[in-house]
Amino acid sequence: MRFHIITIFPEMFDSYLKESIIGRAIKNELISIKFYNPRDFIKAPKNNYKPVDDKPYGGGPGMVMKAEPLLKAVAKVLNAVKSKSKNKTKMILFSPSGKKFDTAYAKVVAKKYTDIILISGRYEGLDARVKKIINANLSVGALTKVEEISIGDYVLTGGELPAMVLIDSISRQIPGVLGKYKSLEEERISSSEVYTRPEVLKWKGKNYKVPKVLLSGNHKKIEEWKKTHLGLA
Ligand code: SAH
Repeated sequence: MRFHIITIFPEMFDSYLKESIIGRAIKNELISIKFYNPRDFIKAPKNNYKPVDDKPYGGGPGMVMKAEPLLKAVAKVLNAVKSKSKNKTKMILFSPSGKKFDTAYAKVVAKKYTDIILISGRYEGLDARVKKIINANLSVGALTKVEEISIGDYVLTGGELPAMVLIDSISRQIPGVLGKYKSLEEERISSSEVYTRPEVLKWKGKNYKVPKVLLSGNHKKIEEWKKTHLGLA
């Protein structure tokens, strides 16, 4: 799975992507992540100031991300996507009013696509023409339209955290990314209630025990118990 991220703050991703399961997935080449910075597509004037945003037409709070640098970044990404992968490419644009992201969506995306393009906005969002132009051009090509996705009913200052949320959640659906991956037919039953050592936890004069059934070694009973404390896989 190749993730292509359009962001003006690529450094925000550094420490998160370096560590743990996602870090290992990148090392093992199960996923790859590339950045495209709209700021790189602005010619520097004499004072070297390269604004990616400007005031909104019609007034209103905040600033709006300019369309051209974003569109140039999108064009660069589309060039980087191999032509045989074009019909397996998904383009996502983050917006708090978009379609709500969930595990079911992550599973579908992990299965169906080889390349995911994530467009992270900032400030008050992107000039609305970005979406219009992308969709008008892509409708004639092999790529699907850009989809607006929200990670929840709250407003963030930018689309970088949402991009990390999607990378994380989609990656763990890719075979081999989680250490003990089993085939889908014998998909592990994930529990919302999990325990590890010690068997009896002593805390402030009280004993807290692990449920007996989990220590019984009786797999059938354990599976049954897990089903009553079901988590999301
Ligand atoms: N007034 C704007 C808010 C923009 S928030 C609006 O209603 O659309 C700035 C950027 O942060 C957005 O462009 C988007 O990329 C990101 N963002 C903020 N909250 C988000 C959420 N809940 N889900 C996904 N992206 C979000």
